[in-house]
Amino acid sequence: MAETKYIFVTGGVVSSLGKGIISSSIGKLLQARGYNITIQKFDPYINIDPGTLNPYEHGECYVTVDGMETDLDLGHYERFTGIQTTKANSMTTGRIYKSVIDKERRGDYLGKTIQVVPHITDEIKRNIKLLGKKYHYDFVITEIGGTIGDIESAPFLEAIRQMKWELGKRAINLHLTYVPYLRAAGELKTKPTQHSVKELQSVGIQPDILVLRTEKHLDDDIRKKVAAFCNVDMDCVVQSEDLPSIYDVPINMQKQGLDAAILRKCGEEVGPTPGLGPWKEFLDRQRKAKKEVHIGLVGKYDLQDAYKSIREGLLQAGVYNDHKTVITFISSEEITEDNVAEKLKGQDGIVICPGFGQRGIEGKIVAAHYTRTHDIPTFGICLGMQMMVIEFARNVLGYKDANSREIDGKTPHNVIDIMEEQKNITNMGGTMRLGAYECVLRQGSKTFDIYKKEHIQERHRHRYEFNNDYEKEFEKHGMQCVGHNPESELVEIVEVSGLRWYIGTQFHPEYQSTVLHPHPLFLSFVKASIDNQKKQ
Ligand code: GLN
Repeated sequence: MAETKYIFVTGGVVSSLGKGIISSSIGKLLQARGYNITIQKFDPYINIDPGTLNPYEHGECYVTVDGMETDLDLGHYERFTGIQTTKANSMTTGRIYKSVIDKERRGDYLGKTIQVVPHITDEIKRNIKLLGKKYHYDFVITEIGGTIGDIESAPFLEAIRQMKWELGKRAINLHLTYVPYLRAAGELKTKPTQHSVKELQSVGIQPDILVLRTEKHLDDDIRKKVAAFCNVDMDCVVQSEDLPSIYDVPINMQKQGLDAAILRKCGEEVGPTPGLGPWKEFLDRQRKAKKEVHIGLVGKYDLQDAYKSIREGLLQAGVYNDHKTVITFISSEEITEDNVAEKLKGQDGIVICPGFGQRGIEGKIVAAHYTRTHDIPTFGICLGMQMMVIEFARNVLGYKDANSREIDGKTPHNVIDIMEEQKNITNMGGTMRLGAYECVLRQGSKTFDIYKKEHIQERHRHRYEFNNDYEKEFEKHGMQCVGHNPESELVEIVEVSGLRWYIGTQFHPEYQSTVLHPHPLFLSFVKASIDNQKKQ
């Protein structure tokens, strides 16, 4: 078996260039050539994981099947390539240091002085190699968070330098930089790229491939100039222009031969260019979808990245329904009984978003009430499902003070409550119900019809649960508990079957929706929202 090869993706000049999209695209293209790949992210911050980070700081927290709370780039990796990532695909400086410090306390280093080099860098290298060895990957793509020049990324760069030295052709560096266009001068500028590459060279890394992000097309002269100044082969300088969809990026990279360049650099044989059939069909359908479906996201973070996977799930489901999904964020903090009709006006379907804490809770309940009583397709996810349950308890079961223990510690009608084993937890990090759990669906329910199977697995990230003491009462009044965890009997899905589409899930289905395998709940919800247009 061929030995694993390593591709390190670094970024320079500015942040937010889309290293995650480039890494995912490379993964996709290598997969199409029959290689077994995985993608890993190293984040230079000290947090152990992003689970406790405010979404305003770092966007959505993505959850892997094995319950790791990770950077949202892992969502891109899965959506592009269909692979499942795990704990080993996400690493932070905090976890690297913690592991080294734990070893030191155990006495593993036999009295040595513990230093950044070699102990921290060795730990980084160990974590990169471990992934390759464990599952016999042909390629491990490692994305380094942050921008070259940051103090925090120095140990990672030293680890890459060493690996390139040790592994020769089996390790390459792809550097993503920015070529700005100065309107006043009417020129594209390559100087920042040259500086960024110099910075890499100063720590001993010669990039093998450069991907230049740009808002304007770069002609060959510019690429030639960059190649000459940066010691990179001309066919290894590719450009990544702004495109209508992030899912166009792999096609654009393939056209310029990025995957072929990678293979050449790694000493692999470059065969014929693969077709990417289903991927292109998706893009074709996306381009052709002109009719719009309007979905309102009732949540509290007015930030593109905060509900990234939900947005992507809705977008993919739109394409498969031959519609363009137009998403409007609706701040739940601003929703009141008086203005709810106005706020939700024009939306064909409503998603009640996940979240934590008090802020914006009542607005979500008011929205759930409005959509239930006006039969507007509604998808409640995690906290969203909990709010649907509370609304039903208040307005149908008649418990005006019904609430979640998270919001009101003393509520006499705790329809959402904390599990016994969670009660004494004082640490906030990594202590929720996390990762994939099995769920059994009730035959004959709407949800069963959607999934078309009885046993499903979905990913969780929450602390509070539906209180089973109320289950019978909910059922009697029309809110059915149609999905249960087979071991704990916890309620995972509620639906009001008489309505067009009113389903709440305790889990997060959005984490499993990919470009080629859109999630059935998203497909069905968007379809119901389209059908709702016809009714109006
Ligand atoms: N705050 C709720 C809980 O902990 C819901 C979490 C979420 O929406 N992910 O149960």
